[in-house]
Amino acid sequence: MSAGTLPVRTRVAVAATRAVNALSRHAGAGSGTVAGGNVGLALDPLLLERLAAGRPMALVSGTNGKTTTTRLLAVAIEGALGRAATNATGSNMPAGHVTALAATPQGAPAVLEVDEGYLPRLVASLGPRVVVLLNLSRDQLDRTSEVRMVANKWRRALSVSPATATVVNADDPLVAWAASGAASPVWVGAGLSWREDAVGCPSCEGRITFAAGEDGGWACACGFSRPRLGVRIEGDDVVLADGRRLRVALALPGRFNRANAVMAAAAAVVMGAGWEDAIRRIGEVDEVAGRFAVVGVAGCAARVMLAKNPAGWRELLDLVCPGERPVVVGINARVADGRDPSWLWDVPFERLRGRTVVATGERRRDLAVRLHYAGVPHRTVRDEVAAVRAAWMAGRGTTAAGARARCARSPHLAASVEGEVDFIGNYTAFTDLMARATRTGT
Ligand SMILES: [Zn+2]
Repeated sequence: MSAGTLPVRTRVAVAATRAVNALSRHAGAGSGTVAGGNVGLALDPLLLERLAAGRPMALVSGTNGKTTTTRLLAVAIEGALGRAATNATGSNMPAGHVTALAATPQGAPAVLEVDEGYLPRLVASLGPRVVVLLNLSRDQLDRTSEVRMVANKWRRALSVSPATATVVNADDPLVAWAASGAASPVWVGAGLSWREDAVGCPSCEGRITFAAGEDGGWACACGFSRPRLGVRIEGDDVVLADGRRLRVALALPGRFNRANAVMAAAAAVVMGAGWEDAIRRIGEVDEVAGRFAVVGVAGCAARVMLAKNPAGWRELLDLVCPGERPVVVGINARVADGRDPSWLWDVPFERLRGRTVVATGERRRDLAVRLHYAGVPHRTVRDEVAAVRAAWMAGRGTTAAGARARCARSPHLAASVEGEVDFIGNYTAFTDLMARATRTGT
């Protein structure tokens, strides 16, 4: 469907969506991704379906890695399908989707990050070409459904959508269950380091047994077990069903980003890209919505990372713990973070023993109690920027030379850098710090 064939009502709704978003950005009221979409949907309740019609579309969902995988998939298909409509800022409900689609020509491909709870209805109403299912684990205990319920809703939606392919993390029993009735799943061995929400079998309620090692598979006595993998990760390589082995060289750090990259590449191939081209394009992405960027904070180079729930924290602690930089941990508990910070007790903060640690954010005292019981000496500093400064002052001498070397790509920052820290924050702690940081221009 070209823009000219859209009903008048829809064309008015598209114009209103764009106008409100432009006004909202101009007024400085945020990035304007939700306000315009809400106005558009009020004018035409079928706006999302109409804007989606005729587009090659991918939906990406799961508890962790959605924003990164969405970005990587949009980049991966660009050579084969052209520039995609995508909700790059993580507004992952229909108002954000409408805004993303309204900003691109009708018919352009679309790669949309989707909130777990919205996925079933969007699969039914938009008929995407492929759905990427990353993982399911506990998140925002006060707000979201229990993950087992989410898996069952996904399963019902996918089992009646024969035209939708799925790219599935076969190492997560809950998402494997969700895709077990899907038409043509591509099973990817993407790994699962957080298993605490996956030990109960979704098929029989028995106990899932995980084989030793990260990628050893899993099985239940009832017969439900890890499907035969079509795509495997081995060290730095991805191994395909036909035996081909390709090197995955990434600018993004961490095991979890390798998994996100391979999931994105597999989905890009379903959409028509080639494996080599998809992986090459993905390898050039070095930050996603600011995450993993190195930013200037109070004369210090801070590597900034976002973790929203225990599974995400575990992955990032794995990433930072071999290092020696001071670590700043920032915790808030606003609506966007989830009001209930009891999840702090599920995070293995013990791994920070021996490091210089500073706790900050509005819930720094809850964090301090958790760190105390984890045996991690630390300071608490109320202001996030002051916390970063305190951390690098404490670690001074051990990190200045390395910090300057790593900032060589950004000469204006390297000249002023006297130290380097890792900052891990939950959602609003991360965005608050980013709003006050100097971007390095990388
Ligand atoms: Zn079972």
